[in-house]
Amino acid sequence: MPEPPPAPGFRTRAIHAGQEPDPRTGEVVPAISPSTTFAQDGIGRPRGFEYARTGNPTRAALEANLASLEGGARAFAFASGMSATDAALRLLLKSGDHVVCEENVYGGTYRLLTRVLSDAGIRATFVDTSNAKNVEAAVEASTKLVWLETPTNPNLKIVDVTAVVRLARERGLSVAVDNTFATPYLQQPLALGVDLVVHSATKYLGGHSDVVGGCVVLREARHAERLQFLQNAVGAVPSPFDCFLLLRGLKTLALRMDAHNRNAQRVAEFLLSAPGVRRVHYPGLPSHPGHAVAKSQMRGFGGMVSFELADRAAAERFVAKLRLCTFAESLGAVETLVCHPASMTHASMPRELRERAGVTEGLLRVSVGVEDVEDILADLRQALG
Ligand SMILES: *Cc1c(COP(=O)(O)O)cnc(C)c1O
Repeated sequence: MPEPPPAPGFRTRAIHAGQEPDPRTGEVVPAISPSTTFAQDGIGRPRGFEYARTGNPTRAALEANLASLEGGARAFAFASGMSATDAALRLLLKSGDHVVCEENVYGGTYRLLTRVLSDAGIRATFVDTSNAKNVEAAVEASTKLVWLETPTNPNLKIVDVTAVVRLARERGLSVAVDNTFATPYLQQPLALGVDLVVHSATKYLGGHSDVVGGCVVLREARHAERLQFLQNAVGAVPSPFDCFLLLRGLKTLALRMDAHNRNAQRVAEFLLSAPGVRRVHYPGLPSHPGHAVAKSQMRGFGGMVSFELADRAAAERFVAKLRLCTFAESLGAVETLVCHPASMTHASMPRELRERAGVTEGLLRVSVGVEDVEDILADLRQALG
């Protein structure tokens, strides 16, 4: 028997999965299909698509690509990371259920759990999941899910995914990971036994600060029917043009992540001895408490770095002097972005929880872009001077 061909590598799948040349026209890029409806051959005989909220060819190509890159059975695309997160939580939780959630979780996820899903009878406890004992202590009789994010935002804490999966398995709990910061190129939670991965595709997957999107990827097909139902019933779907942009971004994901990793490592090392910098958070630094775990579960340490100045006034002075780096929300794109988490991304979190999570008034977060690293370093140096 001939050997089966080896499975294509990540970069190959990023470019080809879900997007074979069109059999009719030969076009190598999937068409942006604007059609909202699709002609059917007869009663009960659609050709594969019926109505564009339910499914359309551009979205189908994107979903096939995402499933392949995360190593999941199925992927579903959403209009934003938050609508993907909402669908994932509604898939795994119903009224009366409880979720143990990472305390440094994305601010919007915290808000969704405490101010939206709380009204649907879903309860959440927020703990430091980097110690599996904290997860164990927070589990209740009605707990169904552990929700992780790693690396976390904005302090790049690393959660040992395998340790949490082991504990969850013993108790029959599902585990979900928000994989936005790492991307499937750097970290594959489904291969570690996680049930479901969500992304804000607005960040690295799109990669160019020009599209809002999200996705849910399932390890097994068993939840696919229900998730497809939720996607169609709620209708928070991306447009065909958004799907095209995401497919285009994904083709260079690996190339971009390699460059983000390299530049972020240089930025973190520079900041370690820069004037006025009190602390630097980057999992690629050997001094980072999660360095060893990050090394074992990630292919690289990512493009996000955060650091602490003395106080808010020092942060304000730094931000005012930036020239190349843009002071803005969001992350994960080709250009370097700097944000002040306490007043921006984490403003919706109560002050007490924010401070427990290390989001101080002097903390700044850098989404290190793929510009020439010397130019990024020069800008940071002059802004700190
Ligand atoms: C941005 C972000 C989200 C929310 O995604 P949107 O696309 O803005 O809705 C969720 N999780 C993380 C980690 C994020 O960075």
